[in-house]
Amino acid sequence: MEIINDLKKINAKRIFVQYPEGLKLKIQGICKQFEKEGFEVVISCEPCYGACDVRDEEAKRLGCDVILNIGHSNFGVESKIPVVYWDYFYDVNPIPILKKEIDKLKKFKKIGVVTSIQFVKSLEKVEDFLKKNNKEVYIHKSLKYPGQILGCNIDAAKKIENKVDCFLYVGAGKFHPLGVAIRTEKPVFTLDFEKKQIYNLDEEKIKWLKKKAWHDSELNDAKRIGIIICWKKGQNRIDEAEKLKKKLEKEGKEVYILAFDNFSTDKIEGLKFDCLVNMACPRLDDEIIF
Ligand code: SF4
Repeated sequence: MEIINDLKKINAKRIFVQYPEGLKLKIQGICKQFEKEGFEVVISCEPCYGACDVRDEEAKRLGCDVILNIGHSNFGVESKIPVVYWDYFYDVNPIPILKKEIDKLKKFKKIGVVTSIQFVKSLEKVEDFLKKNNKEVYIHKSLKYPGQILGCNIDAAKKIENKVDCFLYVGAGKFHPLGVAIRTEKPVFTLDFEKKQIYNLDEEKIKWLKKKAWHDSELNDAKRIGIIICWKKGQNRIDEAEKLKKKLEKEGKEVYILAFDNFSTDKIEGLKFDCLVNMACPRLDDEIIF
């Protein structure tokens, strides 16, 4: 594995491993391989949803000299110890799904293709297939890989929004494509490797917009508000939260700043709020409960 050489090059001895939930079934096997290569390994069992989550303080405290962040790409969060990002790719073939489902895109000529990091290797095949089926394909590079988006960064879609008739997200699940659907005006489809289908996100977008309208009116009427912040290094927005607190207080509201590692409603059971405002991971508000 190339990653082993990268770790040896920086003379890593004890590695602090952070990984996404999707790799849970494989992580023990992966870590055993590192151990066979002579590294000591500590597996972080706190969820790691993105490269915003760099646990350098915790890793240092445990005597680790490097963090291995699997499945995410560096977007510049500073760290007190080196962080090695391992772009973990899924080896999946989109062609059978495209052959079966291409009709769902028949109304659209110009297609913007986006993906998340695990699936970037599939994009070439998707692009070839679409072009052979008389589509114009647009792929923009704004992060490490062409077409790559994050839950909190869809620049690869925004930059081509005016050129395309629709977007096709290549990957799995609704988290990433919903981000594109709610922040652009174009139809969004997902080529979903898990469901082996192409489907559009219209219904989810409508649900999200309704929920947002309801949340906005709740915020207007709320008297007691909690502002959620997170102390993960790439999500820390305490200064903006303080500003918002002062603004809301001027409107006569009672406001509290609530800090979490990972937010969940059970952690604030017993506290009384009319409304919560999310200033942690911007995608948390897709799931937040008032
Ligand atoms: S802030 Fe949220 S969406 Fe952005 S990288 Fe972190 S976990 Fe992902």
